[in-house]
Amino acid sequence: MQRYVLAMLLVGGVWLTGAYFTARAAPCLMVTLTGTQSGPAIFDGIAGAGTLVRYGDDSNECGALKLQFDAGRGTILRLSQVGVVPGQLNATFFTHMHSDHTEGFAEIAQLRWNFNSAGPKLDVVCSEDAISTLGFTLSCKKLVMHIGDLFIQSGEIAQRISEDEQRLPGGPVDILNIVTFQPTNEQQIVWTSGEVRVSAIRSTHIAGHASYRVDTPAGSVVIGGDASNDTLEPPRLTSTSDQVEKLAKGADVIVHSTMHPAMAPDKGSGMPPPVYYRQAATADLGAMAQRAGARYLMLTHMAPPLGAQRHGPYKVPGGPLTDADYRKVVEASGFTGITIVGTDLATIRLPAKQAQ
Ligand SMILES: [Zn+2]
Repeated sequence: MQRYVLAMLLVGGVWLTGAYFTARAAPCLMVTLTGTQSGPAIFDGIAGAGTLVRYGDDSNECGALKLQFDAGRGTILRLSQVGVVPGQLNATFFTHMHSDHTEGFAEIAQLRWNFNSAGPKLDVVCSEDAISTLGFTLSCKKLVMHIGDLFIQSGEIAQRISEDEQRLPGGPVDILNIVTFQPTNEQQIVWTSGEVRVSAIRSTHIAGHASYRVDTPAGSVVIGGDASNDTLEPPRLTSTSDQVEKLAKGADVIVHSTMHPAMAPDKGSGMPPPVYYRQAATADLGAMAQRAGARYLMLTHMAPPLGAQRHGPYKVPGGPLTDADYRKVVEASGFTGITIVGTDLATIRLPAKQAQ
């Protein structure tokens, strides 16, 4: 039974190569948090931010298509715990160029090159170069172009090619296919494969930040990333992104970074106000999920992490937070769906598996 047909698609003026997949049995979607750590801080073995979205049917455990959104520290280890290796990913998407969302990608690219130089290439989808008003440029393209530089400079790439001449000569970048788009305030399709569609929208955090939505016959999921409101600080109606709210209308699942109110500048955490305000506050996120009509809200990239006395250099006033401390803020916001307070490998399956 042939499930894949390689095809070229013209999407938004960009040619994309994708593997067409047609689900024959009942389709299903799985959303797995591959890392839930917020920011560059490190705590208790929590992996850096990332979300694995799998789509398929019962015969392949919803795994015919595997999409990775962001790839923070240790993503490859979390993927290995759910039986996914870099050679199986169909595409990787980046919300923005902060290391807590990107630094795990070097490991993924290196291993894909090492074992899968015969192909196919891995699509890497992200924003075009974004020039900040502050005078620097954020470039996903350069991140990808230079992803293997450490291993080229050390001589490892040449050494491994000497062992296996089938390995691609340029190192990890040669196994990647970069697809960039200009994020705007309107939803645009940036990647498709058969009946699965990935859209993006511009959102505020740092220049070039984008949020994504995956639509499949089994359901839909929005990956907000670190999005916050275009109005950078109070007074404002909400700390959440108006664009993400639009993107999330009618979505089944919202996966989103969040900042607990315990870290607010007036509570004594020591966190600089701009750092606090450029994340979606937990209460605002619950209210947004309710307005969007989401069934599930997956909190991830939680600042502070569960159980932490400190969040990097910042104190957690009142002591470590629990699952309940996040949950009660979401419940008080009026969200009537199901809240998942993210831990690494937390997974939602749509439709939910029937009891045998
Ligand atoms: Zn982040």
